[in-house]
Amino acid sequence: MLLFIFSSKRNTIMENIRQTKQELLNELYRPYRDHRDCPFATPDRKNVVFGVGNPNAQIMFVGEAPGRDEDAQGEPFVGRSGKLLTSILEQFGLSRGDVFITNVVKCRPPNNRRPLQHEIAACTGHLLEQEVAIIDPRVICTLGSCATESILQHPVKITQLRGQKLDWKGKILIPTYHPAYILRNGTQLPFLAHDIQTAIELAQI
Ligand code: URA
Repeated sequence: MLLFIFSSKRNTIMENIRQTKQELLNELYRPYRDHRDCPFATPDRKNVVFGVGNPNAQIMFVGEAPGRDEDAQGEPFVGRSGKLLTSILEQFGLSRGDVFITNVVKCRPPNNRRPLQHEIAACTGHLLEQEVAIIDPRVICTLGSCATESILQHPVKITQLRGQKLDWKGKILIPTYHPAYILRNGTQLPFLAHDIQTAIELAQI
Protein backbone atom coordinates (compact mmCIF):
# COMPACT_ATOMS: atom_id res chain seq x y z
CA MET A 1 0.00 0.00 0.00
CA LEU A 2 2.75 2.40 1.10
CA LEU A 3 4.70 1.45 -2.04
CA PHE A 4 1.66 2.24 -4.17
CA ILE A 5 1.28 5.71 -2.57
CA PHE A 6 4.99 6.38 -3.10
CA SER A 7 4.96 5.29 -6.70
CA SER A 8 1.79 7.20 -7.60
CA LYS A 9 3.21 10.33 -5.91
CA ARG A 10 6.45 9.84 -7.87
CA ASN A 11 4.44 9.49 -11.09
CA THR A 12 2.59 12.73 -10.35
CA ILE A 13 5.87 14.55 -9.66
CA MET A 14 7.39 13.16 -12.88
CA GLU A 15 4.29 14.22 -14.83
CA ASN A 16 4.59 17.77 -13.42
CA ILE A 17 8.28 17.97 -14.34
CA ARG A 18 7.44 16.68 -17.80
CA GLN A 19 4.72 19.30 -18.23
CA THR A 20 6.98 22.07 -17.00
CA LYS A 21 9.76 21.11 -19.38
CA GLN A 22 7.30 20.86 -22.27
CA GLU A 23 5.97 24.32 -21.37
CA LEU A 24 9.52 25.70 -21.30
CA LEU A 25 10.18 24.17 -24.71
CA ASN A 26 6.95 25.63 -26.09
CA GLU A 27 8.02 29.05 -24.76
CA LEU A 28 11.46 28.63 -26.30
CA TYR A 29 10.12 27.62 -29.70
CA ARG A 30 7.19 30.06 -29.92
CA PRO A 31 9.12 33.09 -31.33
CA TYR A 32 10.69 30.87 -34.01
CA ARG A 33 7.57 29.15 -35.34
CA ASP A 34 7.62 31.40 -38.41
CA HIS A 35 11.26 32.46 -38.17
CA ARG A 36 12.00 34.75 -41.13
CA ASP A 37 15.29 36.26 -39.98
CA CYS A 38 17.26 33.20 -41.04
CA PRO A 39 19.39 32.19 -44.05
CA PHE A 40 17.20 29.11 -44.57
CA ALA A 41 13.86 30.94 -44.54
CA THR A 42 13.40 30.44 -48.28
CA PRO A 43 9.99 30.36 -49.95
CA ASP A 44 10.50 26.56 -50.19
CA ARG A 45 10.76 26.05 -46.45
CA LYS A 46 7.62 24.34 -45.21
CA ASN A 47 8.38 23.98 -41.51
CA VAL A 48 10.73 25.04 -38.79
CA VAL A 49 11.56 21.66 -37.27
CA PHE A 50 11.91 21.69 -33.48
CA GLY A 51 12.96 18.92 -31.11
CA VAL A 52 10.52 16.13 -30.28
CA GLY A 53 10.18 13.30 -27.80
CA ASN A 54 10.18 13.00 -24.06
CA PRO A 55 11.16 16.35 -22.51
CA ASN A 56 12.09 14.42 -19.38
CA ALA A 57 14.42 12.05 -21.22
CA GLN A 58 17.86 11.26 -19.84
CA ILE A 59 19.21 10.93 -23.36
CA MET A 60 19.17 13.46 -26.17
CA PHE A 61 20.11 12.82 -29.80
CA VAL A 62 21.39 15.76 -31.83
CA GLY A 63 21.50 15.65 -35.64
CA GLU A 64 22.60 18.22 -38.19
CA ALA A 65 19.58 19.72 -39.92
CA PRO A 66 16.17 18.66 -41.21
CA GLY A 67 16.06 17.08 -44.65
CA ARG A 68 13.26 17.09 -47.20
CA ASP A 69 10.99 14.68 -45.27
CA GLU A 70 11.57 16.48 -41.99
CA ASP A 71 10.81 19.84 -43.62
CA ALA A 72 7.61 18.40 -45.10
CA GLN A 73 6.42 16.73 -41.89
CA GLY A 74 7.78 19.24 -39.36
CA GLU A 75 9.48 16.55 -37.30
CA PRO A 76 13.17 15.62 -36.96
CA PHE A 77 14.50 12.29 -38.21
CA VAL A 78 11.43 10.94 -39.99
CA GLY A 79 13.08 10.23 -43.38
CA ARG A 80 15.46 7.38 -44.25
CA SER A 81 18.07 8.42 -41.66
CA GLY A 82 15.34 8.76 -39.07
CA LYS A 83 13.94 5.32 -39.83
CA LEU A 84 17.40 3.87 -39.25
CA LEU A 85 17.76 5.77 -35.96
CA THR A 86 14.28 4.65 -34.88
CA SER A 87 15.00 1.01 -35.72
CA ILE A 88 18.24 1.06 -33.68
CA LEU A 89 16.37 2.55 -30.72
CA GLU A 90 13.72 -0.17 -31.05
CA GLN A 91 16.43 -2.83 -31.17
CA PHE A 92 17.36 -1.68 -27.66
CA GLY A 93 13.77 -1.59 -26.44
CA LEU A 94 13.16 2.16 -26.80
CA SER A 95 10.75 4.16 -28.91
CA ARG A 96 11.25 7.68 -30.23
CA GLY A 97 8.93 8.85 -27.46
CA ASP A 98 11.38 7.65 -24.80
CA VAL A 99 14.18 9.97 -25.93
CA PHE A 100 14.55 13.57 -27.07
CA ILE A 101 15.59 14.16 -30.69
CA THR A 102 16.66 17.47 -32.16
CA ASN A 103 19.00 19.10 -34.69
CA VAL A 104 21.65 21.82 -34.65
CA VAL A 105 19.63 23.94 -37.07
CA LYS A 106 15.88 23.77 -37.27
CA CYS A 107 15.42 24.55 -40.96
CA ARG A 108 16.42 22.63 -44.06
CA PRO A 109 19.54 24.01 -45.76
CA PRO A 110 19.36 24.24 -49.57
CA ASN A 111 20.08 20.85 -51.21
CA ASN A 112 20.52 19.33 -47.75
CA ARG A 113 24.04 20.70 -47.60
CA ARG A 114 25.88 21.03 -44.31
CA PRO A 115 25.07 24.35 -42.60
CA LEU A 116 27.98 26.78 -42.36
CA GLN A 117 29.12 28.21 -39.05
CA HIS A 118 27.64 31.67 -39.62
CA GLU A 119 24.39 30.11 -40.84
CA ILE A 120 24.14 28.03 -37.68
CA ALA A 121 24.57 31.19 -35.62
CA ALA A 122 22.09 33.15 -37.71
CA CYS A 123 19.53 30.34 -37.88
CA THR A 124 18.33 28.90 -34.63
CA GLY A 125 21.70 27.39 -33.66
CA HIS A 126 21.65 28.91 -30.21
CA LEU A 127 18.37 27.10 -29.53
CA LEU A 128 20.32 23.88 -29.12
CA GLU A 129 22.07 25.21 -26.03
CA GLN A 130 18.73 26.15 -24.51
CA GLU A 131 17.16 22.81 -25.41
CA VAL A 132 20.03 21.10 -23.58
CA ALA A 133 19.49 23.36 -20.57
CA ILE A 134 15.77 22.54 -20.44
CA ILE A 135 15.98 18.80 -21.09
CA ASP A 136 19.09 18.52 -18.87
CA PRO A 137 19.83 14.96 -20.04
CA ARG A 138 22.43 12.70 -18.49
CA VAL A 139 23.73 11.76 -21.95
CA ILE A 140 23.97 13.61 -25.25
CA CYS A 141 24.59 11.51 -28.34
CA THR A 142 25.72 13.66 -31.27
CA LEU A 143 25.06 12.19 -34.70
CA GLY A 144 27.85 13.18 -37.07
CA SER A 145 30.58 15.80 -37.07
CA CYS A 146 28.34 18.86 -37.49
CA ALA A 147 26.42 18.14 -34.28
CA THR A 148 29.59 17.14 -32.43
CA GLU A 149 31.43 20.29 -33.49
CA SER A 150 28.45 22.46 -32.58
CA ILE A 151 28.48 21.09 -29.05
CA LEU A 152 32.26 20.99 -28.55
CA GLN A 153 32.87 24.24 -30.44
CA HIS A 154 35.93 22.93 -32.25
CA PRO A 155 36.60 20.85 -35.37
CA VAL A 156 36.55 17.07 -34.90
CA LYS A 157 37.34 13.94 -36.87
CA ILE A 158 34.28 11.84 -36.20
CA THR A 159 36.04 8.63 -37.26
CA GLN A 160 38.51 9.16 -34.39
CA LEU A 161 36.11 10.54 -31.81
CA ARG A 162 33.12 8.24 -32.25
CA GLY A 163 32.27 5.98 -29.37
CA GLN A 164 34.30 7.94 -26.83
CA LYS A 165 32.68 8.94 -23.55
CA LEU A 166 33.46 12.62 -23.17
CA ASP A 167 32.72 14.85 -20.23
CA TRP A 168 30.90 17.94 -21.47
CA LYS A 169 29.68 20.42 -18.88
CA GLY A 170 29.02 17.59 -16.42
CA LYS A 171 27.12 15.53 -18.99
CA ILE A 172 28.27 12.47 -20.88
CA LEU A 173 28.78 13.21 -24.55
CA ILE A 174 28.92 10.28 -26.95
CA PRO A 175 29.73 11.33 -30.49
CA THR A 176 28.86 8.85 -33.20
CA TYR A 177 28.28 8.56 -36.92
CA HIS A 178 25.33 10.22 -38.61
CA PRO A 179 22.75 7.65 -39.78
CA ALA A 180 22.92 9.17 -43.31
CA TYR A 181 26.60 8.18 -43.42
CA ILE A 182 25.64 4.63 -42.44
CA LEU A 183 23.07 4.51 -45.24
CA ARG A 184 25.99 5.07 -47.62
CA ASN A 185 28.49 2.89 -45.70
CA GLY A 186 26.54 -0.06 -44.32
CA THR A 187 29.65 -1.79 -42.95
CA GLN A 188 29.84 0.90 -40.24
CA LEU A 189 26.35 0.14 -38.90
CA PRO A 190 27.60 -1.97 -35.95
CA PHE A 191 29.58 1.06 -34.71
CA LEU A 192 26.54 3.33 -34.77
CA ALA A 193 24.43 0.69 -33.02
CA HIS A 194 27.18 0.05 -30.45
CA ASP A 195 27.55 3.77 -29.65
CA ILE A 196 23.80 4.22 -29.27
CA GLN A 197 23.65 1.17 -27.01
CA THR A 198 26.45 2.64 -24.86
CA ALA A 199 24.61 5.96 -24.68
CA ILE A 200 21.38 4.23 -23.64
CA GLU A 201 23.16 2.20 -20.96
CA LEU A 202 24.89 5.30 -19.56
CA ALA A 203 21.56 7.13 -19.48
CA GLN A 204 20.21 4.26 -17.38
CA ILE A 205 16.87 4.05 -19.10
N1 URA B 1 19.38 14.38 -40.78
C1 URA B 1 19.52 15.15 -39.69
O1 URA B 1 20.63 15.51 -39.31
N2 URA B 1 18.43 15.51 -39.06
C2 URA B 1 17.21 15.12 -39.42
O2 URA B 1 16.26 15.50 -38.76
C3 URA B 1 17.11 14.30 -40.56
C4 URA B 1 18.19 13.95 -41.22
